Amino acid sequence: MPLEIVRNDITRMEVDAIVNAANNALQGGGGVDGAIHRAAGPRLLEECRTLNGCETGQAKITRGYNLPCQYVIHTVGPVWKGGGQGERALLAACYQNSLALAKEYHCETVAFPLISAGVYGYPKAEAMQVAVDEISRFLLENDMTVYIVVFTRDTVELGGKLFKEVAAYIDDVYVAEHYDADREARRSQRVWKDMPRPTVGGGLFRRAHREDTARNETIFADADLSAGAVAPQASLEDMLGQVDEGFSEMLLRKIDEKGLTDAACYKRANVDRRLFNKIKNNPAYRPSKQTALAFAIALELPMDEARELLMKAGYALTHSSKADIVVEYCIMTGNYNLIEINQVLFRLDLQPLGY
Ligand code: ADP
Repeated sequence: MPLEIVRNDITRMEVDAIVNAANNALQGGGGVDGAIHRAAGPRLLEECRTLNGCETGQAKITRGYNLPCQYVIHTVGPVWKGGGQGERALLAACYQNSLALAKEYHCETVAFPLISAGVYGYPKAEAMQVAVDEISRFLLENDMTVYIVVFTRDTVELGGKLFKEVAAYIDDVYVAEHYDADREARRSQRVWKDMPRPTVGGGLFRRAHREDTARNETIFADADLSAGAVAPQASLEDMLGQVDEGFSEMLLRKIDEKGLTDAACYKRANVDRRLFNKIKNNPAYRPSKQTALAFAIALELPMDEARELLMKAGYALTHSSKADIVVEYCIMTGNYNLIEINQVLFRLDLQPLGY
């Protein structure tokens, strides 16, 4: 996935390069800088000493030594002074210059911490926004996988308006429905208690289940026939000849209908080119639910069309999944900003959309 927010210690990231929130002297320090130097070993500091420091907003590269990454890109974020001293532009420059260096060194995977968001005092939610904006802009023109690595203790401060709205919606829909489901479960337990116990070997229970299954099969068969989907005398061969448009076909059709290019669509969906090509070249490809949803968002599909696209991949939107409720809320309110949606999913510890 081109841009992914993850919860981790950056020194554990197995990527081509990690970015260090360093200071002007490049002599090591506290916070993430200290953690990186400790994990890399003393040779990192030796190399840093040869670099003659680094200006705020600029970036310099060294090897990774004992770290699992090949390179460390050292960048110096601005100290927060209230926001009126060019802090945003300087922070943006950190991301731009670090990504340019990563590209120059042919890195395919890069991990950033939230630069300036610790001791340097940049408000975390705003620091995250700058990171997301700058990385997204870079990814429009470049193929790379970029991680924003967030320390667990930082997540609480990554609020955001959308998160609060979604949290309230989840309370309304998910919690209410689950409360009902709990009550249902308790009620059915009461019923079971009053019934004769199943005999060993299944007796009663198995029979009840068989009857239920038989009943359901009948209902489904009736529904199919009444919908006129398949004539009863159609042969299997006829039926196989009537296979509907699949996910891949529908996706490509919708991209054309929206007047998008393939690249614009998969970038908006936070899906990398390789995966998109796999989907494009294999009409029977079955994407993950996260990928199918990401395309529904990228195409800005209204709810009914989003459900239809999802169904083509064999999935449904359900209120028993918090992630589905988040997506449903965003579609209903016309929010098709996938990165913003992923930030909310991240805060809720749910899998992001894309891949
Ligand atoms: P700055 O001086 O640029 O503010 P800090 O190191 O103080 O840099 O903090 C930058 C961000 O990195 C903060 O959000 C902090 O919580 C986070 N951080 C600290 N250690 C780690 C680590 N090992 N991995 C990932 N993030 C970290």
